[in-house]
Amino acid sequence: MEPTLKNSKILIVDDQVANIDVLEGFLQMQGYTEIITTTDPRQVVHLSSVFVPDLILLDLSMPYISGFEILQLLKPFIQANTFVPVLVLTADITKEAKQRALSEGASDFLTKPFDLIEVGLRIKNLLFTKYLVQQLGNQNQILEEKVKARTRELEESNIELIDARDKAEASNRLKTAFMNNISHEIRTPLNGILGFAPMAIDPTFSDTDKQEFLEILNFSSQRLMQTVTDYMDVSLITSDNMEVIKKGFAPVEVLNEIQSLFQPQCSSKNISLIIEKQETFNSIFINSDRTLLKKVLTHLVDNAVKFTKSGSITVGVHINIGILEFYVKDTGKGINEDALSIIFEHFSQEDVTTTRDHEGSGLGLAIAKGLVTLLGGKIRAESDKDKGSTFTFTIPWIEEISDSSKPVIQTPELVVGKRPIILVAEDEPYGFMLFELSLDTDYEIIRALDGEEAVELCKLIPEIQLVLMDIKLPKMNGLKATREIKKFRNDLPIIALTAYAEAGIRERCLEAGCDEYMPKPVSKIELLNKIKEFGLAVKV
Ligand code: ADP
Repeated sequence: MEPTLKNSKILIVDDQVANIDVLEGFLQMQGYTEIITTTDPRQVVHLSSVFVPDLILLDLSMPYISGFEILQLLKPFIQANTFVPVLVLTADITKEAKQRALSEGASDFLTKPFDLIEVGLRIKNLLFTKYLVQQLGNQNQILEEKVKARTRELEESNIELIDARDKAEASNRLKTAFMNNISHEIRTPLNGILGFAPMAIDPTFSDTDKQEFLEILNFSSQRLMQTVTDYMDVSLITSDNMEVIKKGFAPVEVLNEIQSLFQPQCSSKNISLIIEKQETFNSIFINSDRTLLKKVLTHLVDNAVKFTKSGSITVGVHINIGILEFYVKDTGKGINEDALSIIFEHFSQEDVTTTRDHEGSGLGLAIAKGLVTLLGGKIRAESDKDKGSTFTFTIPWIEEISDSSKPVIQTPELVVGKRPIILVAEDEPYGFMLFELSLDTDYEIIRALDGEEAVELCKLIPEIQLVLMDIKLPKMNGLKATREIKKFRNDLPIIALTAYAEAGIRERCLEAGCDEYMPKPVSKIELLNKIKEFGLAVKV
C-alpha cells in the first residue's frame, strides 16, 4: 500500500457500535492509522471540519439525521476544492436507496452484509482516486503559478514595449516637428539671401538701396548661421555627443563678453542691461566648460532681449557653497504658468500662431537645459505674465588655481612699426580671401595651400608669429601639420579653424597641440579679438 494512503484520515459514521468496531478493526489490520468514528450523525459536519477526513464511511439509516441528509450537509465540504469521497455502507438494499445516495454525492455504495475484502479494495480505490485528484490539484496550482508568473513577465515586457513605442512616437513627433521647423527656419533667411543677393549687384538700384540689401543679406546669413548652429547643438546633445571640455577660467570674463555682445541690441531697443555680481566674483576661477557656459547665457539673454520691449535685463550671479547660480531676469512679456512646464522641450513655444511677433526655432531653452545638465547643474524658470521672467541655472563651482596643462605661449616679440606675420593655411580660395581681407590692414599674411607647405613655411620663416590652420587641407591635414610644427616651434600659437561640426573635433584640435579652436564661419571681429588675445598687434 502507498504510504500516503496508509496515513489517510478515515471517518466512520454508523449508529451501531458493533458495525464501527468491525470496520475499525479491519482498517487497522489493513494498516490505516488515522481513523475516527462516531455513532452520532449530528457530529459529522463538525468532525468533517476539524478532522478533515480523506474518506467518509457512512451508514444511511440513523437516528436524528439520515445518511441522505448528511450527504446534503456535506456537499459544501465534498464539492469544495478538495474531493472527499463518501463510501455508503448500508443495510438498505433497494435500488432507490443506491441511486439516491449516489446522486446526492456518495462516491460508492456497498450493502450489508459486507465482504470485507471488497470493502478494503473499494476504500483503497477511493483513497487512490482522492490521492490522484489531490496530485492533479497540486499540478494545477503549480501551473497556475507558472501562468501567473509568465503573465506578469508578459505584462512587464508589454510595459517596456509600450515605453519603447511611446519613445519611438515621441522621436517621430520630434522628427516631424524638426522637418516642419527646418523648412521654415532655413527657407526664411534663404529667401532673404537669394532674393537680395542678385539685387545687391544689380546696377539699376541706387547705392543706398544696395547698402540696405547688403544689411538684409548680413542679417539673413546671421540668422541662418544661428539656426544651423542650434540644430547641430540639439543633435549633439540628444545623441550624447556634445563634448564638455573642462578647463580653468574666470567666469567674470564670460559675463563681460555677454555684456559686450548684447549691449548694442539693448541700447538700440532702449533697454538697460545690468550686470549684478559680488566683488569676489571677479577673482573666482572655476573648472568648467567656458564655451558651453557662454552658450547657455547667450540663449537666455537672447530670449530676454527678444521678449522685452522696455525696462531692463539683469544678468547676475550668486556665489553659494560649491555652486554658482546665474540668473537672467527681464521685464518683458512673461510666460503663462501652463506654458512654463513645456518651454524647455524641443521646438516648444508659448505662442505658436503664425501672427506672433518674434522669430525662433523653439530650441534655445532645450539647448540651454541640455548644456546646463551636461555641466552638472539645473535650470528653472519663473515668470509673471506681462511683468517679466527670470531664468536661473546652477553650475558646480570647483575652484581652480591655474591651468598648467598647456605650454605657456610666449607673447611674440614685436618690432616697432612692423606688421606681425600670420601664416594662413587655407586651400579654399574664398576662405583665404576672407581672411586676407579681414586681416591685411593689421597683419602681413602668408598663405600655405596645404599642410606640408604650412610646416615648411614655419621652418623657413621663423618670423611667423601665429598660424591660422584649416583642418581639412590637401597632402597633410591641419592636425598633423600642427603636430609637426609644434615639434620645432612649441611656442608658436596655432588657431584651428574648421567647418567640421562633428562630435569631438574641438577636443581633437586641442589634443593635436592647437592653442585655440574656432568653428567656421568666423566673423572679422571674432578673429581679430582672438588674434589679439595672443598679444599680436602692431607695435607703434
Ligand atoms: P525660441 O526663442 O526660439 O522660440 P526658446 O526655446 O528659446 O525658443 O524659447 C521657447 C519659448 O519660451 C519661447 O518661444 C517663448 O514663448 C518662451 N520664452 C523663453 N524665454 C522667454 C522670456 N525671457 N520671456 C518670455 N518668454 C520666453
